[in-house]
Amino acid sequence: MVKVKEDDAKKRAKTCSVCGKPSEKIICDNCEAKIRGEALERKIKDEKEGRTDTGRR
Ligand SMILES: [Zn+2]
Repeated sequence: MVKVKEDDAKKRAKTCSVCGKPSEKIICDNCEAKIRGEALERKIKDEKEGRTDTGRR
């Protein structure tokens, strides 16, 4: 279940939108914990401003 081929990962481009590391979630557990501790609104605001890092390689 954790076996993901590099090709597959690249195709899906599943990466953490915070640290940019490969993650099955939009935000990896590490960053999620961080964001939860920090200001969650900040992140949302930053993304709403037009910072879409979703399709980054
Ligand atoms: Zn992350």
